[in-house]
Amino acid sequence: MAKGVSLQVVDVWKTYRDRGRTEALRGVTLEVERGELFSILGPSGCGKTTLLRIIAGLSAPDRGKVFFDGVDVTGLPAYERDIGMVFQDLALFPHLTVYKNVAFSLELAGVPREVAERRVREVLELVHLPFEVFAHRKIQQLSGGQQQRVAIARALARDPRLLLLDEPFSHLDYKVRLELIKELKRLQRETGVTTVYVTHDQNEAMMLSDRLALMKDGVVLQVGRPDEVYRKPANAFVASFLGESNLVRLRAVGGVAEFRGARLDLSLLSEEYKGYTGEVTLFVRPEHVSLHPPPHGRYIEVEAVVVDRVFLGPLTKVVLDGLGDAAFEALFPSRDASGLEERAPVKVYIDLSETRVFSEE
Ligand code: ATP
Repeated sequence: MAKGVSLQVVDVWKTYRDRGRTEALRGVTLEVERGELFSILGPSGCGKTTLLRIIAGLSAPDRGKVFFDGVDVTGLPAYERDIGMVFQDLALFPHLTVYKNVAFSLELAGVPREVAERRVREVLELVHLPFEVFAHRKIQQLSGGQQQRVAIARALARDPRLLLLDEPFSHLDYKVRLELIKELKRLQRETGVTTVYVTHDQNEAMMLSDRLALMKDGVVLQVGRPDEVYRKPANAFVASFLGESNLVRLRAVGGVAEFRGARLDLSLLSEEYKGYTGEVTLFVRPEHVSLHPPPHGRYIEVEAVVVDRVFLGPLTKVVLDGLGDAAFEALFPSRDASGLEERAPVKVYIDLSETRVFSEE
């Protein structure tokens, strides 16, 4: 039943004028491939929901266009777009049964009773809610996680071309959320439906997505596979939004940044910093600071001092002083970190193949 459209959003702008003036979207362009699981990620207020509502046809852009499989759908109302939607407030009917909730859109579309029943059975199995156990329970008799599954089943009931989800799991506890994310991924693979998932949670986006777009202030900052964006963030905001990072401010003179005991030739990181003079930000993930020189490639050696240790199980986070003005963090295997004493000097190595440099905006 693999079915899904490719989606293009081209130069979409939206300003709300009802309470002052909010430029919610400022020229958003995106492409989602057929069958892809794509996340829109960003802090609260960056325009994610506005963008999703425009893709759904629930709101019109001031400028710009939306295409499904190359066909302009910008003027098409939501009910003619053949989409399934799941929002944070599920909009399920709490006093009706699971069956009635899932069958609702089918009945509205005049699907014959037996066909509707077969389809409800199918989608409930798909979300792992056995028909015999759940179909005749009322929504209010289900757990939060089960209610989410019903909402997803309902969105899939009419076999949509595009599935849109807006923070669907954010009110659930961590364990249930993880489980539903795994389920959603499986389900998306099984149905092949193109899916756009909105979230402010970087872990959800990284676990779930084939690719993601990171937004801020109505603009898309970067699009890519989670590992790509994590390893090669386009700027300091992306770096700090996605996972833990050290952003070390340094001053460069003639392309060389100096810090206590070490010099770093910035052209080793990027040719464009050859001869550069000015403030720069060095981006280093804690897992790329180690107690031993990396076996391949270039590195810098830093004479550091241990400030603090936080035991995290297999890894220990070690806060160090010695690079720039602020403390920086390293993640070491706990068995290597156990011998490190607070205030003791320690030599650490920063892998330059994983280090980036940004100039101050
Ligand atoms: P959140 O994660 O908090 O839901 P979001 O990234 O989804 O945020 P939007 O809901 O798209 O962001 O809002 C973008 C901006 O537009 C915000 O500044 C918001 O206050 C504003 N906004 C959203 N809807 C309206 C509206 N109907 N009228 C006026 N301003 C609005």
